[in-house]
Amino acid sequence: MKLLVATGNPGKLKEIRSLLDASPLEIIGLDQLTDPPEVIEDGSTFADNARKKAQAMAQFSGYLTLADDSGLVVAALAGAPGVHSARYAGKQGDDAANNGKLLAVMASVEDEKRQAAFHCVMALAWPDGRCETYAGQVSGLIMRAERGTGGFGYDPLFMVPEYGKTMAELPLEIKNRISHRGMALRKVIPVLIELAGELDES
Ligand code: IMP
Repeated sequence: MKLLVATGNPGKLKEIRSLLDASPLEIIGLDQLTDPPEVIEDGSTFADNARKKAQAMAQFSGYLTLADDSGLVVAALAGAPGVHSARYAGKQGDDAANNGKLLAVMASVEDEKRQAAFHCVMALAWPDGRCETYAGQVSGLIMRAERGTGGFGYDPLFMVPEYGKTMAELPLEIKNRISHRGMALRKVIPVLIELAGELDES
């Protein structure tokens, strides 16, 4: 059974592939579609955006499709950058600029008030329009300087207190175990395994 993973972000595709390694699914990426539609992520919640992407790509491709929307929610910033995480500093996907802006706006925030969480919503959409969502989140603290070279996005600024390390210092295997995306995907995997089983029997 094929599963289209609708993300253009290579960091995310790598994490999702490694998490679905044990499943019976053949994972295909957006690079294997010809001229997929551009989906504008203008929803006001992670769930709205994930649903919109998954449904558009499932309808276009005819494949069962998994899409996610994720981002960083900082308590001291009233939930920002939130659904705007990828373009917080203006340009879509400019991790260095986004991290620079986050450091600058958090400069005067005291240590006790630097709580944040990564959120992820996975949407699984069928070509007939059905769609289910699964959420995950992980809590942490925003650093005062970047640390670590792994991961992507805000990982070098996101301290995971249980490990005393930033997400960018943790091996992918550990990040997958504790991350917002890992948590959401672990909710989807049993559904995918059951679907693959049903198709085998038919
Ligand atoms: P999306 O591709 O619209 O879901 O945007 C997600 C954005 O949130 C990314 O570009 C990153 O800036 C941030 N983000 C989401 N997940 C992570 C993560 O696991 N680590 C670091 N940043 C993340």
